[in-house]
Amino acid sequence: MTETKRPQTPAEAWAAMTAGNHRFVTGAPAHPRQDIDHREDLATGQRPFAALFGCADSRLSAEIIFDVGLGDLFVVRNAGQVIGETILGSLEYSVEVLGVPLILVLGHDECGAIRATINHTEGKQAAAGKFINVLVKQIEPTVLEANAQGKFEIDEVTELHVQDTIKEMLAQSKLISDAIAAGKLAVVGANYKLTLGEIHPIVTFGNIG
Ligand SMILES: [Zn+2]
Repeated sequence: MTETKRPQTPAEAWAAMTAGNHRFVTGAPAHPRQDIDHREDLATGQRPFAALFGCADSRLSAEIIFDVGLGDLFVVRNAGQVIGETILGSLEYSVEVLGVPLILVLGHDECGAIRATINHTEGKQAAAGKFINVLVKQIEPTVLEANAQGKFEIDEVTELHVQDTIKEMLAQSKLISDAIAAGKLAVVGANYKLTLGEIHPIVTFGNIG
């Protein structure tokens, strides 16, 4: 695989992500930058072109679904992509130190964490794990907000959760919201369709062209 130029702007980074996802969706992945030479080149330092904050779901394998390689994505994931201080610290690091021009927040169909939270709000069985309930408690306000808007389907809740996640990110991290205001960064919220492998944008902050 020949070397390609690292995307520098939010628009270039988004274009690279959508192009890579298109290759994955159509069954024509290039598997770029996964060779031994590239691995050795990277050993002296990383310069990823995007950060991804997504659900830990095993079907959301970041480098595979965006057809990228080693050193391309700074990936932060947990069940249900729930914001927390360590998540925000990792994302701020990707912006301030690594200079990524794009943060993609990625939810997906039939998310187990969101399903568990819906079950919890409906009084169905609760998860046994103490810390699973930490995640559920954090997603719960979004489920209640969705319900208040007459939205009960999991896909509707997931879409709102992606929006709320970014709202919270921007409210809590001045570094991230300042980078957007300065035109250095865009944050895109999207949903991943498990069957099709497609990324569907929901909301964008900043200019992705
Ligand atoms: Zn999930």
